[in-house]
Amino acid sequence: MIDQLVQLIYLISTALFILSLQWMSDPKTARRGVFAGVGGMALAVVGTLLHPQIVNFNWIVVALVLGAIAGIPLSKVALTAVPQRTALSHAFGGLAAGLVGTAKYYLWVQQGQLTRFRMGAIAIEVILGFMTLTGSLIAAGKLQEVLPTRPITYRNQNLINFTLLGVALVVAALLVVDPGRALLFPVLLVLALTFGVLLVLPIGGADMPTVISLLNSYAGLSAVAMGFVMENKLLITAGALDGASGLILSIVMCKAMNRSFGNVLFGAFGQVQAATGAVEQRTAKAATAEDAAQLLENASRVVIIPGYGMAVSQAQHRVHDLYEELAKRGVDVRFAIHPVAGRMPGHMNVLLAEAEIPYDRLVEMDDINPEMGQADVALVIGANDVVNPAARHDKNSPIFGMPIIDADKAKICLAIKRSMNPGFAGIENELYFADNTLMLFGDAKGMVGDIVKHLHGGSGH
Ligand code: NAP
Repeated sequence: MIDQLVQLIYLISTALFILSLQWMSDPKTARRGVFAGVGGMALAVVGTLLHPQIVNFNWIVVALVLGAIAGIPLSKVALTAVPQRTALSHAFGGLAAGLVGTAKYYLWVQQGQLTRFRMGAIAIEVILGFMTLTGSLIAAGKLQEVLPTRPITYRNQNLINFTLLGVALVVAALLVVDPGRALLFPVLLVLALTFGVLLVLPIGGADMPTVISLLNSYAGLSAVAMGFVMENKLLITAGALDGASGLILSIVMCKAMNRSFGNVLFGAFGQVQAATGAVEQRTAKAATAEDAAQLLENASRVVIIPGYGMAVSQAQHRVHDLYEELAKRGVDVRFAIHPVAGRMPGHMNVLLAEAEIPYDRLVEMDDINPEMGQADVALVIGANDVVNPAARHDKNSPIFGMPIIDADKAKICLAIKRSMNPGFAGIENELYFADNTLMLFGDAKGMVGDIVKHLHGGSGH
């Protein structure tokens, strides 16, 4: 009876997870999607606690307390730190799968219940779980900049990595043939942990988001294997949904950067550029908030291109004021959204939605680019890599091939940032030196606020 109830609860959880993914794919239903996901997970936990096999709740309480101690501060990080927070969650997911697999291995070996099928599932679970753990920790360290963000490369790197993975698979196969070879099991764990580190070390720069979602996919797949080990159907379906959605997101991001999967994983992207001869002395033209206000007021079409700097300075509410002021004057204002602007997919959408900018004013990169030539002003707010024209023509640039928003094609480009410092990819941006670009040096929030004041006709400063 209880067993049937548990199965029913699991079925409802699965349905909620699927609906959650469906709803989250549209901004209008995204909130509902989040609630459905939370509800599905809460039901899954309740169903599992009802499980007749559970006889000892002590360790569960310990795990809940530890989870809450780690989880509550993690839920409070700033939006700009969400990628590294997500990487940490994946690390925990991988750790959980790896530990469960390890515990089950030793338990079943002792009880003589380790069939080949179980051993196969455990091997997949611990390889994926432990490589997700170390890979995600390295990714989180790079994103938090406690580790060098550049790719760390050495000779024959791919060969070494593949050999290591090959050895891990051979060890796993030996264990499946004879699960009793207990000495080999720790070897498998060490190989998986090492492989995770080596896999992520050579990746850096703008490729980190793709890697994070790929690690998400690995964590999901290790949960699938864990589902087979634990004979838990919900883990299998939830893990499969997680694994598939992570993979789909990685593919979408690769497309957004015009890169192949193999290139992201093995191309050591984001490496420091080789010095290319003498450095040209170029100067950028600076303008004031007053100049910008005048240019914007006289424009009929304005495209605002937000980036990471808008998020850092939390300028979105000022940007909303600017939008209102210009819209009042009959200026057609639209927002060009680059798929990897900011530090996580959908970052700009979330901030602009928070500031209540009408959703129909947001235009995806592919739709706005053909119209950039007709824009009177492109206003770049704290964006850098996503508007760097080098991506279109400079074969030596680490961002070559990444589609960009064509801010340089507008009649005038205004760019707000604090200095001439580079963005995430660490490279100079020729847009700032272009004849039709005017730099507005300052913090995004303060600068947009000043422009709004000048639009009001006030003195501003
Ligand atoms: P970006 O290339 O990182 O450039 C952001 C710019 O904002 C910087 O040049 C910085 O210049 C400026 N800035 C920082 N703080 C500011 C402030 N308070 N006020 C005004 N400006 C400020 O940003 P992006 O163009 O949005 O490109 C995103 C990059 O991150 C891409 O390379 C992307 O691949 C990568 N990435 C994306 C994701 C994702 O999923 N979206 C995740 C991880 C990485 P100053 O220092 O001179 O002010």
